[in-house]
Amino acid sequence: MTDTEEENIVDSIAPKESTNKIVPRLKKRRFGPLKVANQIPKSRRLEIEKGLEKSSQLKNKWTRKVGVKTHSFLRKRIKPGEIRNLTFNLLDVKIGDSWPINVTVLHGVRPGPVVTLLGGIHGDELVGPLALTYLSGPNFLGEGNALDPSILSGTIRIVSIVNLPGYRRQSRYFPDGRDLNRFFPGVLDSNTTSRVAHRIWSNIITGSDYIIDLHAAAKGRTNIPQIRVNLAHSPSNLTARSFGIETILDTQGPRGSLRRTANKENIACITYEGGGSDEADPESVQVAMYGILNVLRSLRMIPGYPSRPRFRLLATGSDWIRSDQGGLLDVLAPAGSYVEEGEIVATVTDPQNPSQSHEIISPKQGLLISTATSPFVTSGTPIGNLLSVKRGVNTLIERLDDEGCLIISGSDGDPPWREDDEVEDISVSGEWSGGSPDAEWGSDDKTNQEEEDC
Ligand SMILES: [Zn+2]
Repeated sequence: MTDTEEENIVDSIAPKESTNKIVPRLKKRRFGPLKVANQIPKSRRLEIEKGLEKSSQLKNKWTRKVGVKTHSFLRKRIKPGEIRNLTFNLLDVKIGDSWPINVTVLHGVRPGPVVTLLGGIHGDELVGPLALTYLSGPNFLGEGNALDPSILSGTIRIVSIVNLPGYRRQSRYFPDGRDLNRFFPGVLDSNTTSRVAHRIWSNIITGSDYIIDLHAAAKGRTNIPQIRVNLAHSPSNLTARSFGIETILDTQGPRGSLRRTANKENIACITYEGGGSDEADPESVQVAMYGILNVLRSLRMIPGYPSRPRFRLLATGSDWIRSDQGGLLDVLAPAGSYVEEGEIVATVTDPQNPSQSHEIISPKQGLLISTATSPFVTSGTPIGNLLSVKRGVNTLIERLDDEGCLIISGSDGDPPWREDDEVEDISVSGEWSGGSPDAEWGSDDKTNQEEEDC
C-alpha cells in the first residue's frame, strides 16, 4: 500500500492518548505516531515501540492505484465482484479420504488486502464456526448486505471450519491425536497433522495480508471475548485495536501456532477467544462478528465507521486464582466479573465431608477473564485467570452490568461513535505464568505439556 493509504489506515485505528472531552465527529484527522500505553512495563514497552517503528508494510504488496485484477486461489480465477464457494482438500491423496473443507471467497471490485477468517482449527470450538457461518449466510453476504463484493475493496476468504475431521468427532484434535495449532508452518512429508498444516499454510495463509483466527477456551473453562496479539508486531497491533473490544492480551502465541508463525512471516494475525468448547455462547458469537466487521471497516474494505470501545485493557500478564482444597466447585463470580481484593469468587465442597466448605478468595482487584466450568477440582487447580487492574478502575466499573460483569463492546448493539483518541488505554502489567495465558490450566492430553486455548 502507498504511504498515504497506510497513514489513512493507521489514522483510523491508531491508538491515541485518551481525553474525556467529547470530540465532534468530523474533527480534522491527525496523523500522529502510534503511542503505547505509558504503564506497560518499560522493557515490553520498548519492544513494542521498536516493533511499531518498523514499517507496517505487510509481506504482500497491493495498491489502490492500479485496477483490480482477477484473484487466483486454489487454481481458480475469481473475477472482481464475485463470490465463490471452493473446496479445499486438507490432504492431497488419490485414494482414501482427502478431508475436503469449504472456503468462501469474496473478491471485491476495488484493490485491497486479502483478509482470511478462520474458525474451528480446534474441532470442538464452535464460536468461530458459528460466527463465520452467519457472516457467509444470506443476512451478511451478497448484494446490499455488509459483505457485498460489488462494493468491496480487496478479498475476503472465509473458512468456517478448518478442522472438519475433528469437528465431526467433536474433538479439538486431528484424527491422529495432534493439535493442528502447534504444527504450523507444517512439513510436506511429516505426520498427518503436519502435512495438513503445510497445505493450509502454503495454500491459504501465505497469500493473506491479515488473518483473524477464531477460538474458544479448551474443555473445562470459559473465556470472555478477548484478543490475543503480539503488540510488538505493528500490523497485528493495529488489527487487534481495530477489532473494537476491551480486552487485549499481549502474547506471541505458543510455538507452532498459526499466529506466531504468521507474524514471523510478517503476516498480521490476531486470535479471538470467546466462550468455551462444546458450547455456542451467543454473546461470544455476536462479538466475533462485530469485531470482524470493525476490522474490515478500519481497513476500508467495506463502508462504514469502525466502532470503538470505551477503553482497552492492554495486558502483559495475569494472575491465577487457585483452589487449595479438592472437591466440587461452585463459581460465584463468573468470567467477566470485576472482583475486589478479598472477595469470595468460588466455593469448594466435598460430598465426603458435607459439613465443610472452602472459600476461594481473589488476591487482588481486577477483571476475571476466564473461569473454570468443570466442577471437579483438586488442590492447585486454577479456577480463574485475573487481570489485576490498578489504573482505570473507575472507567472499568462504569461499564459493569447489574451483576458486576463487564459489558463487552458489541454485545449490546453498536456502541456510540468515538474517535480513537477517546479510547482510554489501560495497561495491566504482570507475567504470563508458564509463558502464556493458558499454560497453567494443565492438559487433558498428557502428551502435550503446554496445553492452551489458542
Ligand atoms: Zn482453540
